[in-house]
Order: sequence, then structure tokens, then C-alpha cells
Amino acid sequence: MKVGFIGLGNMGAPMAANLAAAGHAVTGFDLAAPCPEGVTAAATAAEAASGAEVVITMLPNGEILRRVAAEIHPAMQPGAVHLDCSTVDVDSARAVAEAASSAGLRAVDAPVSGGVGGAAAGTLTFMAGGAEDAFATVAPLFEVMGQKAVHCGGPGAGQAAKICNNMILGITMIGTCEAFALADKLGLDRQKMFDVVSTSSGYSWSMNAYCPAPGVGPTSPADNGYKPGFAAELMLKDLRLSQQAAEAADADTPLGQAATALYEAFVEREDGKGMDFSAMLPRFEKRGRG
Ligand code: NAD
Repeated sequence: MKVGFIGLGNMGAPMAANLAAAGHAVTGFDLAAPCPEGVTAAATAAEAASGAEVVITMLPNGEILRRVAAEIHPAMQPGAVHLDCSTVDVDSARAVAEAASSAGLRAVDAPVSGGVGGAAAGTLTFMAGGAEDAFATVAPLFEVMGQKAVHCGGPGAGQAAKICNNMILGITMIGTCEAFALADKLGLDRQKMFDVVSTSSGYSWSMNAYCPAPGVGPTSPADNGYKPGFAAELMLKDLRLSQQAAEAADADTPLGQAATALYEAFVEREDGKGMDFSAMLPRFEKRGRG
């Protein structure tokens, strides 16, 4: 398939490289990052998009996505699919889908879970929103870049699923970290705490697969000095998107709100920037109730 790829950063570069390695003709563009091996460099985003059956964007936020969409839609061939894999706000995803439709194009929003490791290994999970036929067109690309793609519904449904998932993740990570910090102060051995909780009703992905306590459970960023992994600032980005969506939809999300405030304090006023999001555990350890 002829593919345009715009946004070749930490995630986009390995995803584009995997598509090229699988035999797709990939033309890439990024304002700053170089093209990975096997990807032909274009001089502009519009050039990367022209003549492609599918144009993938992997960009930092909704504002940049809207700008890039306005640049590439006029250059895309009729019926081509704009596949956005960035994590952005639901409103931007829907606006871009509408713009694509007015330009005679199709659109799929398909944010990913799995991080840089999953992008490199081709094991990402895609959560997709858009029409059935557009999803079917891009499905073979999902198979190369990932191990699972769930079609969640119409435009914006992929972003909605992503931010709901990550709101749960932020909340359970904080809950797991504060429970470990409490267990420490109660004199409970961390390994015993893991052995009990990971097989009891307090279990979660945060505890069982990504344990925030070093030396306990499977290997995780906690065992590597809390180097990300999934950076606290990316968790903050996703939590803010969840609260923006909750505000717009008039949904009551008190724990999502509290998790957002905690990651905001951690990243912007404490020492959380550049740390993994599980570094909430040393944060709680240092504190008392006051
Ligand atoms: P990144 O900052 O490494 O890459 C973004 C790239 O977009 C950069 O190389 C930048 O130069 C480029 N860019 C910005 N504006 C551009 C423009 N106008 N035209 C062309 N290129 C432009 O970010 P990333 O880690 O690759 O993340 C990309 C997206 O994936 C984000 O939305 C992020 O939230 C999401 N995501 C990231 C992870 C992760 O672990 N890194 C996991 C899941 C989802």
C-alpha cells in the first residue's frame, strides 16, 4: 500500500519503519526528526500525503493535528484515508473527521496503547473510531504495527476509549502507590503486600504488570530508577484530555479530577518531570498527611 507518514518522533519513526519493512511504500515527513530506514523523505507534509492511499499522522496534540490536517487534506487523493494515531482530544478527532469528509476523504482516529517498546516491536493496541469501510482499509496496517485493533464506533470513539482507559490507569496507579506507602508505614513487607494484592481483589494492571515498588513483581520502570516507560507528563496529558472531555460531556469524574491534580503537582511543581508515572510511590513515601 502507498502510505504517507507525518510525525516521525519516538512513536512514529518505529511505526513507519515497521510498515516499510513489511513492504509498504512509505513516504514520511517530520518538522524535526529524520526519516527512519526504508522510509522516503518528503519536503512537506502535503508532499508526503499526495498520492497515498492512507496518510498516517502521529503528532503531539490536537491543535497540531488540526493544522496538519488542513495542510494535507487538499493534497490527498479522493477516497484516501486519514489515519490519525496521535492521542488528542475527542473534539479535535471529530473536527478532523468532518474536515476529511467535506474534502471527499475518509478518516479513522486510532490512538495506541503500548508505548515506544510496543511501537518498535509492532505490538501496539489500536482503539479505532470511524466508518466500517475506512477501518477495513487500514486494518492491514494495524496488523503490521500492532497485535490488536478494536473498532470502537464512529468518529472520536477511539480517542474516547483511550482517555477512559488511561483515566483508569492513572487512578489505579495512584491507588497502588498510596497503598504501598501506607503498607510501608504499617511495617508490611512489600513482597508480602504484592503477593496478597496481586491475587486478591485489589489487583490491577498497575500492581500485577507494572508494579511501582522496585524489586517486587515483574520487571518494571521501578527497577530502573523510574526511568520511563510511560512518562508522568504523558499521563498528565491523557488525564487532562479525560477531564476536558468530562467537562464537555458533563460527566462527574471526581477521581479522574483528583488524579489529574496529583500528576499536575508532581510534574509541574515537584520532581516528576522525566520520571515514569509509577514514581508516584517515592513521592508518597516522602510525605506525611500534613
Ligand atoms: P514525539 O514528540 O516524539 O513525536 C512527535 C513528532 O511530531 C516530533 O518528531 C515532531 O517534530 C513532529 N511534529 C510536530 N509538529 C509537526 C508538524 N506540523 N508537521 C510534521 N511533524 C510535526 O511524540 P511521541 O512520543 O512520538 O508521541 C506521538 C503521539 O503518540 C502523541 O500524541 C502521544 O500522546 C501519543 N502516544 C505516545 C506514547 C509514548 O509512549 N511515547 C504512547 C502512546 C501514545
